[in-house]
Amino acid sequence: MSALATYSMLIGGKDVPACSGATFETQNPYTREVWATVPRGGPEDADRAVAAARAAFESDAWRGLTATKRGALLMRLADLIDREAVSLAKAEVRDNGKRLVEMQSQMNRLSGWYRYFGGLADKVEGRIPPHDNPDVLNLILHEPLGVVVCVTPWNSPLLLAAYKIAPALAAGCTVILKPSEYTSTSSLEFGRLFKEAGFPDGVVNIVTGFGNEIGARLVSHPDIAKVSFTGGEAGGLAVYQGAAGALHDVSLELGGKSPNIVFEDAEFENAINGVLGGIFAATGQTCVAGSRLLVQSSIADRFVSALAERVRDLVMGDPMDPATQVAPVATEAQFRKILDWIEFAKSDGATCVVGGQPREVESGALFIEPTILTGVTNDMRIAREEVFGPVLVVIPFDDEAEALRIANDTSYGLAAGLWTNDLTRAVRMTRKLRAGTVWVNTYRQVSFMSPFGGFGRSGIGRENGIAAVAEFMEPKCVWISTAQAVPRPF
Ligand code: NAD
Repeated sequence: MSALATYSMLIGGKDVPACSGATFETQNPYTREVWATVPRGGPEDADRAVAAARAAFESDAWRGLTATKRGALLMRLADLIDREAVSLAKAEVRDNGKRLVEMQSQMNRLSGWYRYFGGLADKVEGRIPPHDNPDVLNLILHEPLGVVVCVTPWNSPLLLAAYKIAPALAAGCTVILKPSEYTSTSSLEFGRLFKEAGFPDGVVNIVTGFGNEIGARLVSHPDIAKVSFTGGEAGGLAVYQGAAGALHDVSLELGGKSPNIVFEDAEFENAINGVLGGIFAATGQTCVAGSRLLVQSSIADRFVSALAERVRDLVMGDPMDPATQVAPVATEAQFRKILDWIEFAKSDGATCVVGGQPREVESGALFIEPTILTGVTNDMRIAREEVFGPVLVVIPFDDEAEALRIANDTSYGLAAGLWTNDLTRAVRMTRKLRAGTVWVNTYRQVSFMSPFGGFGRSGIGRENGIAAVAEFMEPKCVWISTAQAVPRPF
């Protein structure tokens, strides 16, 4: 067996181990090979990272830069990302086991986030409100918040980090990134590019370890200003509570149980493709997975059998192989959870039309067959909770009102898909759907230009779009008197 690769954290521009010297192992989800060790950061490492980020925030090297120069650094970083897109994609696959074609397409788009927010850095303008008092000049300035802690999940580490880091740096904040303990190495590899782009030491720090160890200390640290979190509900709640003690600003991007709604007048093949991609891309391990198929009763049987036909043909295998269509589940915990959910659904009365079983492969990778469940009603557990795996439930509806009622009968509200050729229906439904993103005759489109986030249990706040920079800034109201004399107060 070859020697394990060893990784360091990036703190204050230096590559460092954990203060305790502790490490943990990281495993390739497809080969199941433990191939590297990563520092197991603890509270003392959190303190070091915050001190480095705070010092950088107050330094001339960073605060002294004009907004245009900050933007130029982000542009330079974007060029380096383009140069490294292939190796970053491979690093992501080694960490999370998703298909290379999928991660490559994400990495090809990644630089767009840094360019867009680099371009916005010097477009943040203040305001002068038109007060009645002629003897006053009132300026509204926008200042960076300070140190931002960015916490990311394992499914798309570098893309989701970009949603946070790019606008935070454009705003003039400094950053500490803590990736998931399952996917630490791609973020550590990425960290090198900040140095090469010329960011001053300490502006971006990358620490590794477990949520309840280094993570908990970071989010409750008194010297940070904001926590930007993407992950599951339990983690999100713990972070929210930890940050509340210090009254920190928090944004939470959490999970979903998104409806993908197909009407009888939809373009049949397009809807099939949209539903398949909506749930089975990334083996269902995406926050916006269209995990509830709501299909009009008149076409339900035909639609489900056409779907099942396509699902049976999907090729499972090595995520590095371009022929692979379904990659393994990323972690053992996730694998068990998905199988448990399938069993719960069956015991609640659901029927498995296709899939529902684990699939053994030589490497020992954890595969679950893409699964379609019928006989599901929206009050069953499988229709209410996020599975985060390749499991689609089918719920028929008769008319628009019923589709809307079922779609909105959820505590989440991240996304919704709508398939219809009736424009007026699309507009009516879109207005009433309670979801942060609604896709009509398409699914899964996201962009740095458009706000992303959810209603209800899907989270708090929005990422991306022009408004994202303001999420990392604080208004400062300045009053300047132009009066010759200050009136006597008494
Ligand atoms: P997770 O909540 O288990 O972990 C996410 C991150 O939070 C990890 O880095 C973890 O170490 C950290 N963490 C956990 N507890 C913490 C604590 N107390 N303090 C600080 N950090 C802590 O989530 P996961 O399993 O990695 O990711 C899957 C979840 O992420 C799914 O629910 C999915 O829907 C969600 N997700 C949401 C979006 C979105 O944009 N809305 C995008 C992708 C994934």
